[in-house]
Amino acid sequence: FSRLKAGLSRSSSKLGDGIGGIFTKKKLDDESIEELEDLLITSDLGVATAAKLTSNLAKTRFNKDIEPREVSEALAADIQAILDPVAKPLEIDRTKSPHIILMVGVNGSGKTTTIGKLATHYKAQDLKVVLAAGDTFRAAAVEQLQIWGDRTGCEVVAKETGADAAGLAYEAIERARAQQADVVLIDTAGRLHNKSDLMAELQKVIRVIRKLDENAPHDTVLVLDATTGQNALSQVGTFKELIEISGLIVTKLDGSARGGILVALAEKFGLPVHAIGVGETANDLRPFTAKDFSRSLMG
Ligand code: GDP
Repeated sequence: FSRLKAGLSRSSSKLGDGIGGIFTKKKLDDESIEELEDLLITSDLGVATAAKLTSNLAKTRFNKDIEPREVSEALAADIQAILDPVAKPLEIDRTKSPHIILMVGVNGSGKTTTIGKLATHYKAQDLKVVLAAGDTFRAAAVEQLQIWGDRTGCEVVAKETGADAAGLAYEAIERARAQQADVVLIDTAGRLHNKSDLMAELQKVIRVIRKLDENAPHDTVLVLDATTGQNALSQVGTFKELIEISGLIVTKLDGSARGGILVALAEKFGLPVHAIGVGETANDLRPFTAKDFSRSLMG
């Protein structure tokens, strides 16, 4: 967790320092509660969560002297309770042969990189993985996935730019079945400027792969870039309106991102968070655990 801690430290020390600043020789009164609420909002926890956390604290401690450390500990405990129910790794069901995972998200969110990281992780568990280069719109995305395929020793099913993504996903599953692969990870396009086209394409991919397995995809994972802050919330809303999202992976938590967005996401949607991305390399995908995360968030 050192990477996560180091990554979050920029923002979390701000949170920790902020709490220290507010509660120097201070009571928990209306003024300090308001300052604390503002601090939590600027740390991306969102208005509703900030209000809930501060009123929780006020319930037992209003008008009493309070140390910054006590504030941090109380908040960390409440945040852990919010995150606990959503922390769920993406387990592969070997009986599915193959377990089909559709990866969605806007361009640049870290989809392709996350597929590479997941492939690395599953290969290490001796699972056979097939990658489908379903972002047929961008040649660079196909090349990038091919690089991950070479690196991880996974077969990549790809076609020329502009090829039908649904047909490609279908072929990838057939290939996986022929080889008795355990997992198929399907990359998809993420153009957000043309929302209706994108969603129609995703819906078509789902429709077509259901011809092979009526329960497919077994997971539809939305990849979110933590550095986009509150924008991540609206992205979940947009995708959820049109396709069923089964879980989230939040990337780029190694940068200056305020990890508070995970708390806001958990409160608003309650979707499972499967893992978090803390860098660009194969081993930079971390399990998401409520306890570690809430502690590193408070610094
Ligand atoms: P896609 O368009 O959604 O497939 O996004 P990519 O996988 O191409 O990622 C976009 C950029 O973000 C690339 O430069 C990645 O190396 C980078 N990236 C992805 N995940 C992470 C992460 O967890 N941390 C950091 N720092 N960069 C990441």
